Amino acid sequence: MHSAHLSRREALLQLTTVALAGAAAYTGPVIANTFARNPFSLGVASGSPAADGFVLWTRVIDPDLDGKSALRIDWEVLESDSPRVVAKGKALAMPGLAYAVHVEVTGLESDRWYRYRFHAGGAVSEIGRTRTLPDPASNPTRLRFAYASCQRWEDGYYAAYRSMATEELDLVVFVGDYIYEYKSRPARDAVRTHHLPEAQTLQDYRDRYALYRSDRLLQKMHATCPWLVTWDDHEVENDYASHYSISGTLDLAARRIAAYQAFYEHMPLRASTLLAGLPGLREEGALRLYQAFDFGRLARLYVLDDRQYRGAPLCGSKPEAPLTEVCQRESTNERTMLGRAQEKWLAQAMEGASRAGTEWNFIFQQTGFTPRNYARGAGKGFSRDGWDGYWPARQRLIDTIVASVIRNPVVIGGDIHRNWVANVHRDPYDVTSTVIASEFCGTSISSRNRSSLDREARIRAANPHCLLTNAERRGYGVVEVTAKRTKVDLRVVEDIKREDSSVSTLSSFVVERDQPRIREAESSIDRISRG
Ligand code: FE
Ligand code: CA
Repeated sequence: MHSAHLSRREALLQLTTVALAGAAAYTGPVIANTFARNPFSLGVASGSPAADGFVLWTRVIDPDLDGKSALRIDWEVLESDSPRVVAKGKALAMPGLAYAVHVEVTGLESDRWYRYRFHAGGAVSEIGRTRTLPDPASNPTRLRFAYASCQRWEDGYYAAYRSMATEELDLVVFVGDYIYEYKSRPARDAVRTHHLPEAQTLQDYRDRYALYRSDRLLQKMHATCPWLVTWDDHEVENDYASHYSISGTLDLAARRIAAYQAFYEHMPLRASTLLAGLPGLREEGALRLYQAFDFGRLARLYVLDDRQYRGAPLCGSKPEAPLTEVCQRESTNERTMLGRAQEKWLAQAMEGASRAGTEWNFIFQQTGFTPRNYARGAGKGFSRDGWDGYWPARQRLIDTIVASVIRNPVVIGGDIHRNWVANVHRDPYDVTSTVIASEFCGTSISSRNRSSLDREARIRAANPHCLLTNAERRGYGVVEVTAKRTKVDLRVVEDIKREDSSVSTLSSFVVERDQPRIREAESSIDRISRG
């Protein structure tokens, strides 16, 4: 191993880059290694796009890294169709951030595709593709994105991503459960296994992300286009709610800090999401994920965080338990899902979109939004962990959508491991009230759902606002947006046990401009009636 210490002047020059990368001021040693094997084995990623740039991500893994010295990394951005380098620079991969780098590139052309790669000590990463957003004042004719969630390692292969990489997407929105914190399911109950302990410490969570990112198909999808990301519960622990653990974790605060840091380290996020820098992660609300992205005036994408700030779980959060009067009393109008600051920000962001005349408004959050009555009679069986457990907050969000008069709101979520397509009513418990938005939720990239077709049919019958519920299939949704309409294709994996599984379309839906009530796309009606 060769290492070359930088001069003090060089090191000082690089402090700017370090500060941008969100690390604390760094004055320690810097090395430039030569690697015996590929240090970029976790691949590359990009995200947080703007009209003039984006975040480029990689994490270097090598047994020779001592965990004390920073590593010098070079990055470059190339034109999409020529080898011309349009931007380049140096970054420091910091031991305090698991040798991950988050390069914030600016000064590029809007609405344009680029390629990028990293170099370190003679090694070169694979090349990624990414793009800038259109100018916020422009009127793009089309946006095409995928939404995805829930990719438990043991439950299946990521064939979904092999297919997604061919969809010619502008971006991917990942809405949570990127990792699962558990120890592996036993081999008899798993498609594939791992050997990691249940994640508790920073090192555990880092190892977990490294495991997931070792998957070639997931890497491929990250290298294909920019991702917008938020999290759900399993990035920390099952069904946690802000500071409340239902798993009996004694020190949830410590677990949260470790998990949040590892999440930041592994996602293409801007340093500004760390409101008080890395040491500030201990402070309340210190990792701010919620933000909005404009795809010109065609669409505003709101990425929300309904985990970090939510109120205590209702009635102990026992899933699908009957709603008792005691529970009803526990739920007051103060009950929050997003927290007051985010609610206020969202209302302002929606008013802004309304003023700008933005055509479509996509609200990404982590869980099921409309009521999901589990067929035991109205109000008697539902999930405590989704918006059903926080219905006053849901009503408040609906009120905000209505008051803002944003055009064409569409809610997109994950968590429920089933495809769920539903109309959002002004009063979500009254299907005779006006439809004010549409909802597309799930399914999962790989995480299982053991529900049956019969049970899903009963659930659908008990939820007249629901057009489709299907828990059988894993996959993702593809959303194509034009000024006139939004079309959603539900893609499903044929065999989750196969890395090379084919992917097909379960069904397709359309939302016409100014008509939030969802309709089935002509092409998919046959398929549904046969199902
Ligand atoms: Fe999940
Ligand atoms: Ca979840």
